[in-house]
Amino acid sequence: MQLADRRTTKYVTGVMKVIRLRGHATNAEIVLALREEFPTVSATTIHRVTQRLYEDGEIGRAPKASDGSCRYDINTEPHDHFVCGLCDLVKDIAIPHACRSIIQCNVGDCSVSGPLAVSGTCGNCKKAWIS
Ligand SMILES: [Zn+2]
Ligand SMILES: [Zn+2]
Repeated sequence: MQLADRRTTKYVTGVMKVIRLRGHATNAEIVLALREEFPTVSATTIHRVTQRLYEDGEIGRAPKASDGSCRYDINTEPHDHFVCGLCDLVKDIAIPHACRSIIQCNVGDCSVSGPLAVSGTCGNCKKAWIS
């Protein structure tokens, strides 16, 4: 390992820990979580770390957050997501092939390929609405 890399190694470990724990996380969420352990870590450093982990195939990408920022995914296989329109929570789902065929019928000459994202209201937000 290069000497210059030693400083970032602890951040790489930290970033992986946060993403593994949450499943999905944006750079902003990762910075916030890591500042408990590394109060001086900069957003730029974390941005560089996640970018590199993504390029190395260590982490994947989930649908973007509602503010347009990248959201990283511990699951590097292509997969579908549910996204809460209120709190921006994402979770992995598996949309059956039969549903894809139905969606395909509705998009005309466009073709449905790659992961799908479904939006809605998560359980927590539903509870908050009721109470
Ligand atoms: Zn929600
Ligand atoms: Zn995911």
